[in-house]
Amino acid sequence: MAVFVNGVIFEGVDTAAPDCWRLEAYMARGGYQALKKILDNKIPQEDVIAEVKNSGLRGRGGAGFPTGLKWSFMPRSFPGDKYVVCNTDEGEPGTFKDRDIIVYNPHALIEGMIIAGYAMGCKAGYNYIHGEIFEAYELFEEALDEARKAGLLGQNILGTDFSFDLFAHHGYGAYICGEETALLESLEGKKGQPRFKPPFPASFGLYGKPTTINNTESFASVPFIIRDGGQKFLEAGKPNNGGTKLFSISGHVNRPGNYEIPLGTPFATLLEMAGGMKDGKKLKAVIPGGSSAPVLPGEVMMELTMDYDSISKAGSMLGSGAVIVMNEDVCMVKALERLAYFYHEESCGQCTPCREGTGWLYKVIHRIANGEGRDGDLELLESVGNNMAGRTICALADAAVFPVRSFTKHFRNEFEHLITHKKALVDHKWC
Ligand code: SF4
Repeated sequence: MAVFVNGVIFEGVDTAAPDCWRLEAYMARGGYQALKKILDNKIPQEDVIAEVKNSGLRGRGGAGFPTGLKWSFMPRSFPGDKYVVCNTDEGEPGTFKDRDIIVYNPHALIEGMIIAGYAMGCKAGYNYIHGEIFEAYELFEEALDEARKAGLLGQNILGTDFSFDLFAHHGYGAYICGEETALLESLEGKKGQPRFKPPFPASFGLYGKPTTINNTESFASVPFIIRDGGQKFLEAGKPNNGGTKLFSISGHVNRPGNYEIPLGTPFATLLEMAGGMKDGKKLKAVIPGGSSAPVLPGEVMMELTMDYDSISKAGSMLGSGAVIVMNEDVCMVKALERLAYFYHEESCGQCTPCREGTGWLYKVIHRIANGEGRDGDLELLESVGNNMAGRTICALADAAVFPVRSFTKHFRNEFEHLITHKKALVDHKWC
């Protein structure tokens, strides 16, 4: 997937150069200066956390929780091991940014994790990489080797008394392992199922020890924040939405790919960067933040800016920044059927409302999409959804319900037409 960039992680990265990911290339563009700055000046841990807080960096995995605040939850005086864990288990439909960070700029992530380890007093970290991205995993292992050989990882980093090591772990491709406690279970070698919370990972995480989990893009943003200052990062975006952010844009655009742009950029500008609508077709709908974010009509999206506040005010979520663009030829019932199947397949099965509910949602949408819908099916979908959302161990059930509610709200006429006439209003052409 091509990367088109203009932000803090990919600044100066020539993604067309085969060696752009190597340590030498990273050093040439100012890599590991942030780590050196901390170690040379013996910057106190709390000052590093304060700088990350000042940056306004919000978790890039989907929740948008302030990263610096999360770091401050790690118990300072805990006597035993503590861990930092990176969540590179991106598996949500539409999301493909983290793999490009690893493929084109892995040392930004490694440096960010070392700094996190320093700030939170950890001696070890793990990067949990999604099971279906083999190239990224192998490349990350090589980047770790480079860092170890250069004295940037391991005992007495750069000749100081700070020691930290980092390990890659290859997942097996289950979407649910992107949920942080399922990820920890899987990392421990157990079945990847979410844990009951509380306790939260900050007090009971990996192997029962205090653990901080951040997304790949969040960690990779840290070197810039420490090197150039949190204020500069904050100013790259807009208030409460600091920095630049990667958006994975897919669907009916001319140039799908990853675009790193300031938060607060108009959606219309992002669409233009992606080459505009393919074949000159009309924009119909957009899922602005990965498949679990509510869909919005195209005309609504054209008025929005790409940041947490703007998208949430419009009734959706910025999520991981996976933007799925749909044109006028998409039957919204078919599109929803595809999403419902995904969540049904990926439910881990622990909670009855999710295990059974995702199945019911898929079955009802499938029959509507195939001209076998019944009167009352839309009410049935609503009722099933109401019995799922907020009643389960993790947010997968909610994630399955949000698309159903938003598709049937904004494009209700297409569902009603199919139920009444047994024929789709739109002759579906996905590609
Ligand atoms: Fe598993 Fe679904 Fe329950 Fe999450 S909500 S723990 S995916 S059954």
